[in-house]
Amino acid sequence: MEDKITLAAHGKINLGLDVVRRLENGYHEVRMVMQSVELADTVTLKRLPEDRILVRTDRRGLPCNEKNLAFKAAGLMKEIYSLGDGVEIFLEKRIPIAAGMAGGSADCAAVLKGMNILFGLGLSLEELQREGVKLGADVPYCLSGGCALSEGIGEKLTVLKAPPSCVLLLAKPDISVSTKYVYENLKLKELEHHPDIDGIVRSIEAGSLEGLCGKLENVLESVTGREYPVIGEIEREMEEAGALRAIMSGSGPTVFGIFREREAAKRAMKGIREKNLAKEVFLSGFQTY
Ligand code: ATP
Repeated sequence: MEDKITLAAHGKINLGLDVVRRLENGYHEVRMVMQSVELADTVTLKRLPEDRILVRTDRRGLPCNEKNLAFKAAGLMKEIYSLGDGVEIFLEKRIPIAAGMAGGSADCAAVLKGMNILFGLGLSLEELQREGVKLGADVPYCLSGGCALSEGIGEKLTVLKAPPSCVLLLAKPDISVSTKYVYENLKLKELEHHPDIDGIVRSIEAGSLEGLCGKLENVLESVTGREYPVIGEIEREMEEAGALRAIMSGSGPTVFGIFREREAAKRAMKGIREKNLAKEVFLSGFQTY
């Protein structure tokens, strides 16, 4: 059996995000359309002949202790399956951190998958998802990836067909947004309008990129966008350069724009950099499986 494995941990964007209600346990019931993006971290796992978990990364400032979701994933697998051996994990980070792109959950999912293979556990995707949700609401989705409708707290997944391919521009402004703060400040009762999640699903099923772009919407933008005008500025920059549509992903602050033409996306990228709206800007695309 191999003692080393390397996996790509893809980030995600939300083509639609709605919050249905606040639950008593502090979680929120959501309806989200998730889509994997080509932008990915590289996660390498190496089996160690000793009882320890070692996490290293090339991203300065990212904790490598039990706060890291990759560490937590390894700890959970060791505990449930009473694994005596340990694992060394290297995270080559590309997905912006605390950005609304589920970078931590993607790494977590890659470690669950990787340990399943390295230790020959033979767990099914569903079994991994059942364990994964204990570490984060987005982990079950990150284990399967692609395009999916995510409901409940994120654990109820319906696989959707891949939307038409496009050029994707991702821009993360240099601000920190706390997911907890955004959810806590969402005034659910005052909302007069909710994203048309069923319409987004229908446009995807119909294979219409224009139809889909007409419906992209994220309810959390009412909180993060109000607080940080740079989000709207990035969206305008993208749309003026020719994006069919640009919105914020997750709790933000990453903005994504959907383009038909690579040249238009490059123009937007240049504008965003020149105006100093965001430092982390990536040309990408939808990741399909
Ligand atoms: P989501 O879209 O699920 O809300 P996010 O993109 O907003 O996720 P992450 O990048 O997953 O946020 O990181 C959120 C927090 O988790 C950060 O404060 C970071 O320190 C911590 N974290 C723990 N492990 C990781 C990891 N492997 N990669 C990135 N962040 C991690």
